Amino acid sequence: MTDTKNKDLFVSEIKAFLDPADIISETEKLEYYANDLFYFDGNMPPTIVLKPKKHKEIEAIIKIANGCQRPVYICGGGMSYTNAYSPTKPDSIMLDLKNLNTIHEINAQNRYIVVDAGCTWKQVAEALLTHNMAVEFPAPLSGSHSTVGGALSQGVPGEMQGVLGIEVVMGSGQTLKTGAWAAKVNPQPFYRSYGPDTTGLFIGDNGIFGIKTKIALHLKKKLKGSAYGSFDFHSYEALASTMIALSPYDFMVRRTGLDPYETRNIAKVGLADSINLVLKNIKIDESIPKKLKTTKEILHHGVKFLEKANWTLHIKTEGLSDTSAEEAMSIVRKIALTNGSELPAILPKARDLMGFSIRKFLGKEGERWVATSGLFPIDQSVTVATCVQEFFASRQSDMDQHNVQHSYITNFSSYYFLCEPCFYWNDKLEPIHIEHLQSPEAKKFSNFNENKSTRLFVKGLREELRRLFQDLGSVHVQIGTFYKFQNAMDPASIELLTALKTITDNKGIINPGKLDNIKPKNLVK
Ligand SMILES: Cc1cc2nc3c(=O)[nH]c(=O)nc-3n(C[C@H](O)[C@H](O)[C@H](O)COP(=O)(O)OP(=O)(O)OC[C@H]3O[C@@H](n4cnc5c(N)ncnc54)[C@H](O)[C@@H]3O)c2cc1C
Repeated sequence: MTDTKNKDLFVSEIKAFLDPADIISETEKLEYYANDLFYFDGNMPPTIVLKPKKHKEIEAIIKIANGCQRPVYICGGGMSYTNAYSPTKPDSIMLDLKNLNTIHEINAQNRYIVVDAGCTWKQVAEALLTHNMAVEFPAPLSGSHSTVGGALSQGVPGEMQGVLGIEVVMGSGQTLKTGAWAAKVNPQPFYRSYGPDTTGLFIGDNGIFGIKTKIALHLKKKLKGSAYGSFDFHSYEALASTMIALSPYDFMVRRTGLDPYETRNIAKVGLADSINLVLKNIKIDESIPKKLKTTKEILHHGVKFLEKANWTLHIKTEGLSDTSAEEAMSIVRKIALTNGSELPAILPKARDLMGFSIRKFLGKEGERWVATSGLFPIDQSVTVATCVQEFFASRQSDMDQHNVQHSYITNFSSYYFLCEPCFYWNDKLEPIHIEHLQSPEAKKFSNFNENKSTRLFVKGLREELRRLFQDLGSVHVQIGTFYKFQNAMDPASIELLTALKTITDNKGIINPGKLDNIKPKNLVK
């Protein structure tokens, strides 16, 4: 049979069960999926995009794709910038899972929520509002658009112990469940590790082991008390050594470090969003009195004082009451003031008001943005801070020539240090950017000129930075095709993942090329 006949047959089989509105084949719309928020060589648009609403539809699509060995790529919110979903193989199908978005169950007694993988984190948070509960780990800032399935597949800094079970459609079209959810009698996803942790195998897999369709997440009660603190340091090293000193304390729920550029940038880009959001939701949000108080405080202080700030640290603590959260903050304060000075805690409060936002995917004036991150053991924080700054100092004149701005976002826990430099440069925006902007900015930013030479310069710089991180012993979330995972890992680990890929997708049709190109055994050259 010719290729065209094959494709026609595929479409007619799909049309038998999928709503025609969920089948996209217009060239312009297909182009949208050829790149994520950054830019990668060798990508191509899919031949067709399918937007299933139900698990059964996905099983049927994969069975047909398996029969004709067509590559299937998976897209959630599309907020990747490491080439985690765009096709690198011709004649592919894109499964866009934004319509797979039902909240199935909130089991307050057994403490879990079951959601479709295409639900956004915002949807999940809203569903839990009346239960006064939250998921175990901080959802991505991009959660207004990014999906639960996307985060599980990319991984998040700090890992995801609160994921209790996953329902996955494998490359054959068969479905499996993980953890206690896979039990034959009374399968309930209340417990993650029934025997070895099969749930963990599908976290951070870039979707190559199958399509996540449903996900069960553990719930915790929200604590009533909170306290906020912001501190200023004269250098990245001073900030990093404070992070080491704070790392033994587990009561911090948000811990963000910003360089001088990001301190000002976030104040400008994020703050207006937060205040508008509070004012917009004034009638429907019951926590509004507290939020209004915070908004007044923000408006009162303004952000001018941040113009003079250097390297800043923004902390939130939680406790049974505001008093106990304040008590925890007093420990933070004592440590932070050894090397730094205190600032009004406007940014961490604004972050709370904002909830989710993707506006930071561009600079204030619509500059293109991309982040590159590495995770290191916490005791390496200061060394990493020094090496990364040396790297940028050695590239400064080239960056000046291309008018490229760089910045640092930093994060830490009791055991890791995350260093995330960001690049900003002037360049044409893609439809994926324009689509996600509010109308005044969408109009204002829509006619920028293409700046290919600077984009390529940033691409090269980003690759050099990745090498530096890996030479320093980094690990990464969001591997996609960007981070070099296979070479960085012990061969025995790669063999295990290859074996798993062979079991879950022996024809290699699901997200081929992703997770740094882990393939099934029969396809490994
Ligand atoms: C402004 C901004 C802020 C951000 N903040 C954070 C943050 O705070 N923390 C953080 O960790 N990241 C953050 N990110 C990065 C990104 O948003 C996250 O990695 C997010 O989890 C991606 O989710 P998504 O739904 O957009 O996934 P996509 O980009 O659509 O896909 C990501 C990967 O998951 C796979 N995938 C998606 N859905 C499924 C599924 N159902 N089954 C199998 N595979 C699937 C895709 O094939 C791809 O490999 C941010 C990004 C931006 C632009």
